[in-house]
Amino acid sequence: MLRSVLISASRSARCRALAERAPVVRAVVNRFVAGAGVDDAIRVCRELAADRLVSLDHLGEDTLEREQATATVDAYRTVLRRLDDEGLAARAEVSVKLSALGRALPVDGEKIALENTRLICAAAAAAGTRVTVDMEDHTTTDSTLAIVRALRVDFPDTGTVLQAYLKRTEADCADFAGPGSRIRLCKGAYDEPASVAFRKKSEVAASYVRCLKVLMRGKGYPMVATHDPRLIDIAGELAGRIDFEYQMLYGIRPDVQQRLAAQGRKMRVYVPYGTEWYPYFVRRLAERPANVAFFLRALAGAQPVR
Ligand SMILES: Cc1cc2nc3c(=O)[nH]c(=O)nc-3n(C[C@H](O)[C@H](O)[C@H](O)COP(=O)(O)OP(=O)(O)OC[C@H]3O[C@@H](n4cnc5c(N)ncnc54)[C@H](O)[C@@H]3O)c2cc1C
Repeated sequence: MLRSVLISASRSARCRALAERAPVVRAVVNRFVAGAGVDDAIRVCRELAADRLVSLDHLGEDTLEREQATATVDAYRTVLRRLDDEGLAARAEVSVKLSALGRALPVDGEKIALENTRLICAAAAAAGTRVTVDMEDHTTTDSTLAIVRALRVDFPDTGTVLQAYLKRTEADCADFAGPGSRIRLCKGAYDEPASVAFRKKSEVAASYVRCLKVLMRGKGYPMVATHDPRLIDIAGELAGRIDFEYQMLYGIRPDVQQRLAAQGRKMRVYVPYGTEWYPYFVRRLAERPANVAFFLRALAGAQPVR
């Protein structure tokens, strides 16, 4: 219930305007977001790269203006150049959202998003790294997978995301478990109807394990994106000697991130940066009721903001 309310708030312009005006909100946001600019992204990337890998996400989604989509491409080109210049490209890739690259534009949205993402893939290849395409709500799954297939013709190492809460995902994992296929498996962060998604936590976890088995038996490169301790253990057991990586979000369970890295596991941290933090931040609140309490306490000034 709370999760559904928060996820609809993540798309509310009114809630967004309120949150963006409150200075205390920004202080709480800093737990999950590296900062507003490219320098912040590079600084955090450098810190993490000592023991972990990184995926940088320039925040933004649901773009309805072509110029904004072009500005997003420019932002990715800039950060990719910086990764290359600073010798970080071997430790960091980028994650992109197709809705930030024009998919929702009223005319030719998918075509524009494909061409924009292609430009980012080319910049990533020139810098010596690659791109993973994030997955958004279920109405966009087919379009995302079609665009990723098209990108892979020229950039075969382009990765994407499959969400275990969707009933279709076990079959998608089988389709995408071919040689070289980079698949990030996550639970899923949107509020999806029971017609297409498992709604109970236990069902989502069971689906995650089934999907993991398909990916680990396949010929691709599984990217296990979860903070769930049980799933982290199961992935380690299923993998045996298979090459794979764990992924977690910036600011969430950093102790576990460091422990896995110290054990010699590949551990990648998804690091968002930029000014368009609102929907991303509200989805993080929705994942854990304690985050909402922390946020409300900070708003009420009941404890110092970290
Ligand atoms: C690298 C990465 C990329 C992702 N990309 C996508 C994507 O493209 N599309 C998409 O739909 N979703 C994406 N997600 C989000 C994902 O779908 C889940 O919403 C999110 O990871 C929480 O699920 P969980 O597997 O960690 O399990 P949960 O059961 O939600 O969490 C397990 C435990 O982790 C901790 N935890 C989890 N979330 C939080 C939080 N927000 N704050 C504090 N503690 C927390 C808690 O201790 C919790 O008990 C991504 C997640 C990761 C890690």
